Amino acid sequence: MKRLTIKKRLTVGVTVVSVVLTAIAVIVILLSARALLHRELWAAIENHARDASDEVEIDHGLLEIDDDIVFYGDGVTILVYWPDGLLAAGNPPIGFPMDTAIDMGTQRIVDSPAGQWATQDVPAEDGLIVRAIMSLSEVNNTLHSLTITAVIAWVLYACAMWLGSYRIAFAALRPVDEINKMAEEIRTGNDLSRRLPVSDVDDEISGLSRNFNAMFERLEASFLKERQFASDASHELRTPVATILAQCEYALAQPSVSEKDEALSSIQKSAERVSRLTSHLLALSRVDREDVAQPYERVDLGELSMIVADEMRDAARHVGVAIHTEIEREAWVDGDQTMLFQALSNLIENAIRYRDPEKETPYARLSVTKKADRVKLLVEDNGIGIPADQQDKIWDRFFRGDKARTGGDGLGLGLSMVHAVVKRHGGEVSVKSTHGEGSTFELSFPMAPEQENEAHN
Ligand code: ADP
Repeated sequence: MKRLTIKKRLTVGVTVVSVVLTAIAVIVILLSARALLHRELWAAIENHARDASDEVEIDHGLLEIDDDIVFYGDGVTILVYWPDGLLAAGNPPIGFPMDTAIDMGTQRIVDSPAGQWATQDVPAEDGLIVRAIMSLSEVNNTLHSLTITAVIAWVLYACAMWLGSYRIAFAALRPVDEINKMAEEIRTGNDLSRRLPVSDVDDEISGLSRNFNAMFERLEASFLKERQFASDASHELRTPVATILAQCEYALAQPSVSEKDEALSSIQKSAERVSRLTSHLLALSRVDREDVAQPYERVDLGELSMIVADEMRDAARHVGVAIHTEIEREAWVDGDQTMLFQALSNLIENAIRYRDPEKETPYARLSVTKKADRVKLLVEDNGIGIPADQQDKIWDRFFRGDKARTGGDGLGLGLSMVHAVVKRHGGEVSVKSTHGEGSTFELSFPMAPEQENEAHN
């Protein structure tokens, strides 16, 4: 690609435009000056010729000349000719071609080796002819030096313009160079913690730097998050895989079938954990991917909640937890059914898993209500509750409450998945919980547009 920097383009552009415009102006001025000088020159010639024509006559065959006649004045030479064209009076200027024919009235420019002459013939009394002559050398010299001065001034102006516009472009674009240099350093050094300099002046360039910095901040945060996630995920996978390997080795070394069986069931447990972990990670990465599931389908959150509750009822009953529902149907949202299903399942699974065995009637209550332009979803339980100091950490990936309290077989991914799904659907999620009493998770989603209209009517 041809490298033509903005600086060069600005400089060349501004210089060319202004130089062409000034050249046009200079040409117009020179032409006007020439026209003006010529107009004055012809006026002088004609005046002198007319004045002289009043001062001559023929008296008894002799030429009579008044004393007032001026044969040379203001650069104009006057010659008087007999009616037959012979010179009667006056001294022709040196170099003027005397064979120049009489041509009454017209203003002519006559060329000769000695230079150019402006001349005009006018009729006088008794058939006499008066010729006025003026050398054009002076006028031509004046025009010539005027042209040279104008061209020199124009060249100096062009240089000054080029230098000036280069300096202005250079000064204006220096911050862009700095941004470019810093962005290059950040790119090659892979150091996203660096930031571009932001000037005090609030202009387009500082706006650009601020936006770039905000972008670097986002990139840095998401890279750090990703790195952390990858390291946490591999850490989480390492333990069950190490258990599987150790148990395999142990099983192979055992002669007795019962010990082999024991090792196999331990292997199975660890393999199940790996399988759960990988499917959760896959589901999470799907939620994180911004290109999946757009455009959304219309989902009835009421219907979906009923399905989730029904699916989990048996398993809940099995551990003594009752699932209650209080659901408004036709609670439409625009979303991804699979993701929403997964999020709801995670919440109910938690309500069941973190039940309080001390309570007489452990329950999980799922309610869906439509309010103005939102669909609100509550998952309440009377389980063990979440200590206040953990309530803002529960959304973090791989966060698990202490083992003694929660049993410790969770993966720590359920709520982070809920959080990601809700955010992806433009919703809000929050928790209210009292340690030892129970928890309430509140989700709220924007209602699907047509549904919103119906709710208002
Ligand atoms: P997991 O349940 O696999 O540990 P989650 O992300 O679903 O991971 O939950 C994170 C932590 O939040 C849990 O370890 C638990 O301490 C706490 N928690 C989540 N839901 C509840 C609940 N309904 N009652 C009490 N504690 C909960």
